[in-house]
Amino acid sequence: MSKGINRWYLPVLATLGILLVALLALVATDRAMRDAAMTETRAAAEADAAILAAGLESELEKFSLVPRVLANDPQVRALLGGDSSQRAVLNTRLEDLAQQTGAAAIYLVDAQGMTEAASNWQLPTSFVGSDYSFRSYFAEALAQGTASEFALGTVSRRPGLYIAQRVNDGDTPLGVVALKVEFDAIEESWREAMVGAFVTDREGIVLIASDPDWRFRTTRPIAAATRSEASDALRYGSADLESMPQFATGSDLSVTSLMERTQPVARNGWDLHLIVDPLPQIDAAVANGRLAVLLGLIVSIAIVGGVIFWVRRREARAEAEMAEHTSKLRDQLQQANRLATLGQITAGVGHEIRQPVAAVRVFAENGEKLIAAGNQDAASENFAKIIALTARIGTITEELLGFSRRAAHPPKEMPLSQAIDSALFLLRDRFERESVTLVWTDRSLADTPVRGEHVRLEQVLINILQNALDASPPGGDIRIDVALDADFCRLAVTDSGSGINPDIADTLFQPFATTKETGVGLGLAISFDIMRDLGGNIVWENTPSGARFIMVIPRA
Ligand code: ADP
Repeated sequence: MSKGINRWYLPVLATLGILLVALLALVATDRAMRDAAMTETRAAAEADAAILAAGLESELEKFSLVPRVLANDPQVRALLGGDSSQRAVLNTRLEDLAQQTGAAAIYLVDAQGMTEAASNWQLPTSFVGSDYSFRSYFAEALAQGTASEFALGTVSRRPGLYIAQRVNDGDTPLGVVALKVEFDAIEESWREAMVGAFVTDREGIVLIASDPDWRFRTTRPIAAATRSEASDALRYGSADLESMPQFATGSDLSVTSLMERTQPVARNGWDLHLIVDPLPQIDAAVANGRLAVLLGLIVSIAIVGGVIFWVRRREARAEAEMAEHTSKLRDQLQQANRLATLGQITAGVGHEIRQPVAAVRVFAENGEKLIAAGNQDAASENFAKIIALTARIGTITEELLGFSRRAAHPPKEMPLSQAIDSALFLLRDRFERESVTLVWTDRSLADTPVRGEHVRLEQVLINILQNALDASPPGGDIRIDVALDADFCRLAVTDSGSGINPDIADTLFQPFATTKETGVGLGLAISFDIMRDLGGNIVWENTPSGARFIMVIPRA
């Protein structure tokens, strides 16, 4: 019973266990993969931000060199010192230089703020003749030597970084070399390559941005006292700076799914901000994790299934071996029972054979004499009698051999009378010796075909008849009755003994249950086994005259 439950529960429990583990693994993997993807994205974003900042730095470094070199140029000094003959050649030189370096404009402003020469001298937007004394980079460079300012162009309205360098003649300031850098190309490349990037100045105002809408927004509140509306309007084109949208800086993506990493640019206190979207990476990592869990699940199920299959197969093999062993034991027991029975009936059979053998001897001796006397006909009669007697001996030995035959055959259709006759034949002597009368009145039903097997039906009947003979007193009788119903033929043996002892009634068909001094207690156990094996049964009842055993045999 408990084995059955175990069997039923084992795969269900194993499956539930695996599913639970898989669920926990899924939750843990999701979390771990998400964290790992976040860390990875953050690290990658940091590296990318550092590369972008370094690129920007070297670009600015390159541009800042140009005004520094030009400030020491003799032609520049001459023009700003008042020698206007240098203007034409300088205009051309500045134009070439701007083209080579990629600067938006390079121009020379005298000490009063008037532009003397410019790279864009040929264009309608030429700076030549413009007064830049109001620009703070001009005033600052004149006062401090160098200056830089990010602002909108007064004419072009295009944003850019103005880098200025003072030109000296000894201690006398002659003017300023200015260069304007525009960042359209960089912004364009950022826009193409990443989710977003922007650069802020010391005050947190966005200067360069992949999204033009972000420019001149503020990333943090700016103290009103430090601002001048007039100069803001001049620099940024608006006095009212809007604030930037917020991006997550840590692992908390609840505000927005985007993540921001900041990297300082080693110039003017600028910061480069890189915006990345970690979600695709998180999604991919989580999907990979789930795939791994799924694979793990499949492998686990396959392993558990394999183990269960293996255990089942081993059990089945053990069961089959056990069944084979039991069946062999049963055969051996049945055979032992047959041999024991044979031993018990041999005395009677010996008597059966002794008589015809003695008669054969007498007929043979007489025959010899009859031939010597020339009485051929009488001698032939003797031979015929000898033949009949040897045929009878043959029948007896056949019965004995048949009964002791080891192999039990599969059931087949046979008349029940065959088994009854054989059994009675072998026990005839015992009936006679013990003066027990066999009463078998209606023999007609015994010809009913049954589905059985001669040797085994005979064995059961002999067991029952021997017990009946044991129980019946001398002068008693044993009755045989055959009855039929739709499916079974019932062969009842009723004796004239004292019936089944109540002490043994419950264990009658169990091995070694006996009340006899020399009994073994196997006869009924084996008979029960044989009848069940043939698809029938064996039952008993106590009757007023004695015990009755009924063999229930399937009809053919
Ligand atoms: P054994 O004959 O060796 O005792 P059995 O299995 O044939 O073994 O019988 C078991 C017991 O059943 C007998 O010892 C006897 O007590 C009881 N029994 C069997 N048949 C009869 C019967 N016809 N009348 C009374 N008791 C019987």
